[in-house]
Amino acid sequence: MATNQTADEMKIDPNRAVELASNLARTLASIKCANPTNRSVRLVAVSKLKPASDILALTAKHILDDIPATDKAHLPHLHFGENYTQELLHKARVLPNHIRWHFIGALQTNKCKQLAEQIPNLWAVESVDTAKKADALEKGRTALKDKLSEQQTDTKIERVRIYVQVNTSNEDSKSGVEPNEASGLAKHIVENCPNLQLQGLMTIGAIARSQAASEGELNQDFVVLKKAREQIAKDLGWDVSKLELSMGMSADYEDAIRQGSDEIRIGTGIFGARPPKKVATDEKHNEADKKEGE
Ligand SMILES: *Cc1c(COP(=O)(O)O)cnc(C)c1O
Repeated sequence: MATNQTADEMKIDPNRAVELASNLARTLASIKCANPTNRSVRLVAVSKLKPASDILALTAKHILDDIPATDKAHLPHLHFGENYTQELLHKARVLPNHIRWHFIGALQTNKCKQLAEQIPNLWAVESVDTAKKADALEKGRTALKDKLSEQQTDTKIERVRIYVQVNTSNEDSKSGVEPNEASGLAKHIVENCPNLQLQGLMTIGAIARSQAASEGELNQDFVVLKKAREQIAKDLGWDVSKLELSMGMSADYEDAIRQGSDEIRIGTGIFGARPPKKVATDEKHNEADKKEGE
């Protein structure tokens, strides 16, 4: 029964695959347009609330034949972003383990250990905003490494990359540390979490600010994130280039790239509109979802 279910959810509808490939091609073309110097900008395809078969379709090479070779250099390694713990745990179990998963949603402390322990190919967690969450992720990764070394497998487990989420728009409804608290948290991760790797900073930002930016101004959320990075680099004695900026979503990624983004996270632009949020399997999960909004 379970096996049949898995087979069903992995079935790729050829029409859907064509649609996804063309959405992706369009997105890659406009990324290129916003990035004339061809800086390296990572695309994370945000697949939350979308079926596993959509992800599989985008990772199947032959389906992407329509995309010019120059645009798809990084496609076999496409990164995927998820917001809900249960959904990510499930997808990570049924989908190929070369997928690079990013957890980008509202993070609960009591789910952190599970994420880091149960998903060996968890590439990054982008929504870390407390030292407790970092410590719990560290604990999970340590447990996974211990388990693997007991089994004497030679699977190499990478550190989990961590982005400190910053509330750049000063909205109560948004997760993230205040910009002036980001440095303390970054330092905590570097000094106390050997199985985590501080990768950079992430922001979602306010809709009003992306709209203002589309009328020719700078997006202030991106300005604030960049400033926070400068401060952290200074405090850590690191070069700023060692810290990435994860900023820009479907509505504002072109501006984000122009303002120096290293990673954009695109859901709607690739997968289309999302279904209404499913009823979460536990209430706390639900609460976290509400807090994050979209
Ligand atoms: C959902 C989500 C995205 C993608 O949003 P789109 O507007 O659909 O591109 C990016 N980042 C985070 C943190 C999200 O929750």
